[in-house]
Amino acid sequence: INLVMEQLHEYKIVTLGDGRVGKTSLTLRFARGQFNDSEKATINANFFEKQVQIGREMVKLSIWDTAGQERYRAIASNYYRNAQGAIIVYDITEKSTFDRVETWVNELQSQGGKDIAIILVGNKCDKENEREIPRQNAIDFAKSIGVTHFSTSAKTGSGVNECFMEITRALLEKDRGKI
Ligand code: GDP
Ligand code: MG
Repeated sequence: INLVMEQLHEYKIVTLGDGRVGKTSLTLRFARGQFNDSEKATINANFFEKQVQIGREMVKLSIWDTAGQERYRAIASNYYRNAQGAIIVYDITEKSTFDRVETWVNELQSQGGKDIAIILVGNKCDKENEREIPRQNAIDFAKSIGVTHFSTSAKTGSGVNECFMEITRALLEKDRGKI
């Protein structure tokens, strides 16, 4: 038998965004298929691993999640260190969280570097009737800063896999460009 071992790619992805936008929920939904509807902030874990396959490529993602430090604007620099990708999340029902996206992008680029692949995510799309950010505004803004925009609901799972797969694909593509 001819077994071809593909190289295992490993990427570090960090989640960023204001408190309570759903960063932990998105990570848990993607990595474990779970959702916790309680009012309390979900678990303060900080690190999840998930292996995914794209075509013939196996990819091990380490997804870093804050333990709530974003509330004190005190994310330690090792959180950003060696991150290749970032998922910046806002809550579509809280305009203030969208207004802070640019700050998060700047923070990421000054702490982690300019070369990080970024995806912008509007979460809580199951609450469409409470939406404060028109979808097109978010898409236009994302375009203006050169990043892809996704709409998700950690609650229903809508868009969650797609968003993580998209950033994985972007990271693989970047790697190929280096060979
Ligand atoms: P974080 O502080 O950004 O990590 O946010 P959490 O993941 O802890 O979520 C904050 C709150 O929002 C929790 O009560 C979650 O249950 C809720 N939540 C997170 N994602 C969604 C979503 O997609 N839809 C709805 N309706 N609630 C969500
Ligand atoms: Mg959290």
